[in-house]
Amino acid sequence: MPAFDFDLFVIGGGSGGVRAARIAAGHGARVAIAEESRFGGTCVIRGCVPKKLMVYAARYSSDFQDAKGFGWQTGLPSFDWASLIAAKDKEVARLEKLYRAGQINAGVTVFDMRATVAGPQALRLADGSEITAGKILVATGGRPNVDPALPGVEHVITSDKIFDLPEQPRQIVVAGGGYIAVEFASIFAGLGSEVTLIYRGDKVLRGFDAGLREGLMEAMAARGIRLVMGDVFTRIEKRGSSLVGTTRCGETLMADRILFAIGRSPNVRGLGLEEAGVELDAVGAVVVDGQSRSSVPSIFAVGDVTNRVNLTPVAIREGHAFADTQFGAKPWSTNYANIPTAVFTTPELGTVGLSEETARASGANVDIYEARFRPMRNLLAGRDERTLMKLVVDGETGRVLGVHVLGPDAAEMVQMAAIALNVGALKADFDRTMALHPSAAEELVTLRTRR
Ligand code: FAD
Ligand code: NDP
Repeated sequence: MPAFDFDLFVIGGGSGGVRAARIAAGHGARVAIAEESRFGGTCVIRGCVPKKLMVYAARYSSDFQDAKGFGWQTGLPSFDWASLIAAKDKEVARLEKLYRAGQINAGVTVFDMRATVAGPQALRLADGSEITAGKILVATGGRPNVDPALPGVEHVITSDKIFDLPEQPRQIVVAGGGYIAVEFASIFAGLGSEVTLIYRGDKVLRGFDAGLREGLMEAMAARGIRLVMGDVFTRIEKRGSSLVGTTRCGETLMADRILFAIGRSPNVRGLGLEEAGVELDAVGAVVVDGQSRSSVPSIFAVGDVTNRVNLTPVAIREGHAFADTQFGAKPWSTNYANIPTAVFTTPELGTVGLSEETARASGANVDIYEARFRPMRNLLAGRDERTLMKLVVDGETGRVLGVHVLGPDAAEMVQMAAIALNVGALKADFDRTMALHPSAAEELVTLRTRR
């Protein structure tokens, strides 16, 4: 008779949880997983996947405009929000089914309900039952922040709601200057809404390379997004069917919807972690070591709930490493160096490695190679938008420290460039790589002049 009901109990069926459960089961462990909402988690249900589908939808408007320059005698077709949402819902439902089936096919016991921690090796399910497990993995993700003290905060929505609005907002104000704020400002502008973005700082996307941040802001403004910098909401009121926001600098911003995208917090509320002795940090994230083990030896955590790098591929790697290490006798840990990331604005932004500012702050002698040009497609299209490409190179060793791209397909280019950075490529390696012509990416191997 085994000492526990399961060898592993995973709380949360998102990116990190499903990977950990499936791999651990594959190693022969008796595994259970609980998901209180929908399998797939934030990324599949209300994050990366539906967001990217909306990005594709939004880009058709400028494609239709550009088509004229290539001889297409077409007017701007009309856009139907309900059709997009229905198509998106269908695809998300298909993926959700696959994620759920993946667990069952791997032999994982699925509980479609909330689970909380009742002790170092005990769980309580929403139906009142108690379960024991040799190890517990907390993979509960994060939730969007709002400012609870803001008068009228009940009128704003977060990214959790944005995917299911019954109607496309004619006017939308987005508060925040991070990934979600700029992505949704771009999406709604592309779909034809009137968009204002309000951000407390002077440049969106703090932490990214300054050249790209400035380039993106120029492009967003040129695409009709009104940028209100250095300001925040102090009050939101509902007047009839409109929302009226007052700002600290005295602006009045009207909209059908106000989207708050001001960061996310680890999802630990009511989970029973502190009662079980699990240490949380100042923002509520589970404190873990390099093996994702918490301060309680039988309790582990991966993904956004640990607030390390809050991206889907990172949560997946952390879950996989945990399962191999604890149940497969194959110990390894996630490598956080050179994580590529993209911001799916239009134009999009992709980046891997150090920004110019971070490289300089590290004291390195830094060489910058950069190009700013109108991509070929924009010439006939009559679009003035520039692509920006930038290499940050260590002046002593010649090693490429960072690759930054603002422009079409930036995400695709940077994924490949990340391989080069991971193998320690030198600028000379980029230089001796044959260009692929005609492409935008060839600029990355033909940058010869230091700035
Ligand atoms: P999650 O995917 O959040 O999964 C946690 C799961 O746990 C949820 O399904 C939740 O319902 C469940 N849960 C919570 N508590 C309990 C409980 N007590 N019992 C049972 N179940 C519970 N990342 C990218 O890499 N690329 C992108 O383009 C991208 N776009 C994004 C866009 C948006 C709008 C958002 C919000 C996020 C985006 N992200 C993106 C981030 C990405 O979604 C997260 O980093 C990733 O989902 C984290 O995975 P996770 O497993 O830690 O948590
Ligand atoms: P981010 O952390 O990216 O950005 C939060 C933004 O809100 C920042 O501009 C921040 O300003 C601002 N902010 C924070 N607190 C306040 C406040 N009290 N009042 C006004 N503004 C405030 O968070 P997001 O919500 O955009 O996204 C959460 C995470 O999800 C991202 O960090 C990323 O990890 C992940 N994600 C990834 C995507 C991708 O890979 N493409 C897409 C979407 C999300 P400041 O910079 O000045 O602190």
